[in-house]
Amino acid sequence: MSSTNTPPHTQSAPDVHAAEPIPAAARAEIERLLQTGDLFRYTAPSRSPVSLLEAEFAEMMGSRFALAVSSCSNALFLALKALDLPRGARVLIPAFTFAAVPSAVVHADCRPVLVEVGSNFRIDMEDFAAKLDQGADAVLISHMRGHTSDMDAIMALCDARDIPVIEDAAHSLGTKWHGRNIGTLGKMGCFSFQSYKLVNGGEGGMVITDDADLIAKMIIMSGAYEHNWKKHPVVHERFAHWQNRLPLYNMRMHNLSAAVIRPQLGEIPRRVRDGRAGHDRVAARLDASPWLSVPAPLAPEARAPDSIQFNLVGFDDEETLAYMDAARARGVGVQVFGMSKDNARAFWNWQFIGEIPALPETRAMLMRACDMRLPARLTEAEQDFIADALIAAAEEVKSRAPAYGT
Ligand SMILES: *Cc1c(COP(=O)(O)O)cnc(C)c1O
Repeated sequence: MSSTNTPPHTQSAPDVHAAEPIPAAARAEIERLLQTGDLFRYTAPSRSPVSLLEAEFAEMMGSRFALAVSSCSNALFLALKALDLPRGARVLIPAFTFAAVPSAVVHADCRPVLVEVGSNFRIDMEDFAAKLDQGADAVLISHMRGHTSDMDAIMALCDARDIPVIEDAAHSLGTKWHGRNIGTLGKMGCFSFQSYKLVNGGEGGMVITDDADLIAKMIIMSGAYEHNWKKHPVVHERFAHWQNRLPLYNMRMHNLSAAVIRPQLGEIPRRVRDGRAGHDRVAARLDASPWLSVPAPLAPEARAPDSIQFNLVGFDDEETLAYMDAARARGVGVQVFGMSKDNARAFWNWQFIGEIPALPETRAMLMRACDMRLPARLTEAEQDFIADALIAAAEEVKSRAPAYGT
């Protein structure tokens, strides 16, 4: 790319990918684990870092049970397997999500059925209800980038038909719906500790539920072979029933991951507070531009954002591409989901699911929806730098005189 018209302030563009340091409290525990070689969650008779993390996470979320695993994708897979769905079962998922979600469905020998998502990044409830009535065995709701669809309507429709709901809350830790923690609304809720999520374990996942039978199955399938399930402080009566009757997929969490994650749990309230303040500050500025719009959340949602999504208004494809270039020239790397090649959040790239449906509403949204990381640690000056660049890039593209004009 030419740099001749790069503005001089490019050097001071904030780095939105750098992580926060891991709290110092993790060091002593990691050193102890390295000294003793106690890295496997089931070596110690009790109180392993992974077990302690599960107890702390369940308490924080207000759920009865928690199981730590190696990723959110594996948490979703285990949740689907625990439902004991028939091979080829239809699992409704929003068409706006990360490729890992339809992948988990395929991994569990089920068929993903994609539901339209509107320009407000939330599930189109008319299409959801229609697809539910065409036949669904389970529903997997991805709260993509923390945006919450109408969970009241979704739960009412699914409860009335006795269809189980799994929440993919990978990117929604700290988000609330009517004051309740996201991930506790459905039968099971799944979370990610991959580095780009609110809590950075490098990799890692968690599944929570109040159902003793489901947690027993997931604990066994995650790799609690023989009687290792006895080290889980959960109701033990269901394990005798499932012993030796379920495959062991070995998706356990590593003690070192738990040691990195545990001291970050106390940071969550600050990250949520600062992330929301920064997001709302940038959102108000972008929304004031005639070329940009930030969809409002549904009333019951209090989001915990670490990124911002907004739509380009009145841009054609060429202008959209020019917008990404203009923002990048100002040091701000914004992606338009449907315009960056091979994007894992564009459903037409999920060729592994088989025939790709048309989904015109979701496609139209993806072609104009911008995505920008906005980590909680940014200063107000850095937030303003990003907002200035995003607005100026739109003005620049829209003020360009057409080559052959009217
Ligand atoms: C990150 C993410 C996942 C996958 O999480 P992993 O822990 O990387 O497997 C799934 N769904 C959504 C919405 C995500 O953002």
